[in-house]
Amino acid sequence: MVLLALGFLGSLQNASAQTSREKGRNAVPSSNSQLASPEIERRVDDLLRKMTLEEKLGQLVQYSDSGYNGQAQTAEEAASPGKNPTAHQPVDAMELVSTGRLGSMLNTVGQTRTNALQHAAVEKSRLHIPLMFGADIIHGYKTTYPIPLGLAATFDPELVTSLAHISASEARTGGVDWFYSPMVDISRDPRWGRTQEGAGEDAYLGAAMARAYVRGYQQGDLSLPTSVAACVKHFAAYGEAEAGREYNTTDMSESRLRQVYLPPYKAAVEAGAATIMSAFNALNGVPATANAHLLQDILRDEWGFNGFVVSDYTAVMELRNHGIALDAATAARKAIMAGVDMDMMSHYYDSELPGLIKSGQVPMSVVDEAVRRVLRVKFALGLFEHPYAETKEVTAAVPEHRPLVRQAAEEAIVLLQNKPVGGGSPLLPLPKYMKKIALIGPLADDAGEMTGSWGMTTRDPDVVTVKDALEQRMKQAGGSLTYAKGTEISGTSDAGFAEAVEATKLADVAVLALGETAEMSGEGGSRAYLDLPGNQEQLLEAVASTGRPMILLVFSGRPLVLDWAAKHVPAIMEAWFPGTEAGNAIANLLYGDAVPSGKLPMSFPRAVGQEPLYYNQFPTGRPPVGVDLSHSGDGDSRFISRYVDVPNDALFPFGFGLSYTQFSYENVAVSRHAVPIAEARRGEARDLVTVTVTVKNTGSREGAEVVQCYVRNLGASMEQPVRSLEGFERVTLKSGESRQVSFKLGSSELSFYNNAGHAVIEPTNYTVWVGGSSTAEAHDEFRITP
Ligand code: BGC
Repeated sequence: MVLLALGFLGSLQNASAQTSREKGRNAVPSSNSQLASPEIERRVDDLLRKMTLEEKLGQLVQYSDSGYNGQAQTAEEAASPGKNPTAHQPVDAMELVSTGRLGSMLNTVGQTRTNALQHAAVEKSRLHIPLMFGADIIHGYKTTYPIPLGLAATFDPELVTSLAHISASEARTGGVDWFYSPMVDISRDPRWGRTQEGAGEDAYLGAAMARAYVRGYQQGDLSLPTSVAACVKHFAAYGEAEAGREYNTTDMSESRLRQVYLPPYKAAVEAGAATIMSAFNALNGVPATANAHLLQDILRDEWGFNGFVVSDYTAVMELRNHGIALDAATAARKAIMAGVDMDMMSHYYDSELPGLIKSGQVPMSVVDEAVRRVLRVKFALGLFEHPYAETKEVTAAVPEHRPLVRQAAEEAIVLLQNKPVGGGSPLLPLPKYMKKIALIGPLADDAGEMTGSWGMTTRDPDVVTVKDALEQRMKQAGGSLTYAKGTEISGTSDAGFAEAVEATKLADVAVLALGETAEMSGEGGSRAYLDLPGNQEQLLEAVASTGRPMILLVFSGRPLVLDWAAKHVPAIMEAWFPGTEAGNAIANLLYGDAVPSGKLPMSFPRAVGQEPLYYNQFPTGRPPVGVDLSHSGDGDSRFISRYVDVPNDALFPFGFGLSYTQFSYENVAVSRHAVPIAEARRGEARDLVTVTVTVKNTGSREGAEVVQCYVRNLGASMEQPVRSLEGFERVTLKSGESRQVSFKLGSSELSFYNNAGHAVIEPTNYTVWVGGSSTAEAHDEFRITP
């Protein structure tokens, strides 16, 4: 109430709670103007009038080509197979398509098959409505780039847009016109395996990346032959799964939801995303796939989303496992009434909606509206005019795309540590005379792992492994490379250790390629331990015992616990899963032909018990530093918010990453120290305060730095994070060069969401830090005055 009395800020022009859905619809502009075109509306009306109920429902279901794959069953049915007659039947996709009973397919890829199915839709079905082909193209089609978590480490949205565009252009040749991407779930707990599919822990970075993908996929015009429809997933808050356990529940305040989890989805919708996928998880007790607050109140009424919503895989059926539907009909009713337009793989909309409509439990108008939304996207994609994939099919990595993909890997890889060995300069970059390399580890020569999870369209022969690239380099430089695998990724035998140790003793430097398999992260990839799997750390210890210079390359889909390595290994690089050009990018970085610039999109913990660990946490009443607790009678500092066995802070914090050069930050200054509240609340102010800083490359070589701007709001009516990222910019500076960088802080950056779901600005104090990580120290202050 106090907040409302203080005033509502329309930072998000439609953030006010719309009580009436109709009112909301009329008041909010459409998120994608193409989908709002009167011409498309006219065509949709014409078509809709001709459709039978069966044909309408066909547009609302989606199957994979292989038909039903055996997962679509409730826990109860799994225990007694055969109970639900629809759940175990494979579908005959061709038959359904030919008879107008299937409007879209998932993960059917390749010109021959997609064109054959499209032919059935366009030539054989009564109304000739083309199919949409959706697929999980997450980080490249044939030419793959780093996993999304790695791409987030580039802090380079323009690069992401270019990459998204090349993958769309490649995939379109294989008949795919709809990507189940971007995944924009914020994840603050790396035990959750899907951390690798998103942009990490921060809402501001997440929103920038979300926008970048949508722009690249859709290019502002879905009808272009190289555009695909984006599917933003998984709406919403899936990344907060309790304890990092896959599909687990989420429960949070409205403030946290809007402040931390929703911004990337909102940014994607504002960028015109054509479709959204509802999530598996429940939010505050209501499964996302039956959640009208998410799908109607927020997504459609507040944000004006005018595309369609598809459920996640069998998520409609899973409403029964969630315990909110006793039967298939109830599950179907709850999902469609909440705003899920398309049922992916559950088999419920086609089997249950006829009965529900007949009994009046689902109005025909709701079905019509869902069909309308699907058809709009099909028209906007130009599928009625150009249903087939006709250009030369891309079946292997495209040579012209390799440079960009390599650049992406170079920018994504984060240099975590770079110490001198025996005094002198840091170990990296390797001097050209270091020509005897011992390459060790199970990930040094495994092409399949380099492309990470969701690599179904990629080909191993296209991948350059670290071994391939270093061998090539040694051949050219007249050096030698000895490769010893040492162990398997989940190995338990130390039989290979001796060979690795011997190779190291004879070499100038050992390069260890360790980490996870691609499948240890991604969907169903939750881990309770975050160490190097198997006995890889023992291998690392054995090699370290030689005392030779060594570099650790970590391949993983999440932050790992690298505590031992940080104490004993001079140079460490987090390589994520870098994609097709993995080896070339890494060799370039090792030898200084490329300079590291990646910055962590997630905090790296010291111990798994710190999780969820994220930089923008709320303060406590007893922070570990800076508070005088002597009044409490406890002279020692036991009664403060900390662990007794590990420091609170991250081993490597959010935003952190080293370079081969150094940067200084000077003259951080705000443009004004006082902003009247009336001005701050006036409309959508974009530039209330400008923060400037002089960044200088003080090292000896050119390099790129991600300049980051963090803000803290002190004195508000609700706790605010100890700092939050509110701006970043990548700058490339020559040795000795300086540049002034500025950040505009407007109502969006300075407001916060209260628990009524409103964005508010109050007369409070702000501190602004600018620097090269979330621990930036250079700062200035300003106030919003009453
Ligand atoms: C995943 C989605 C994916 C879908 C289709 C689901 O299991 O959660 O991210 O897009 O399958 O493959």
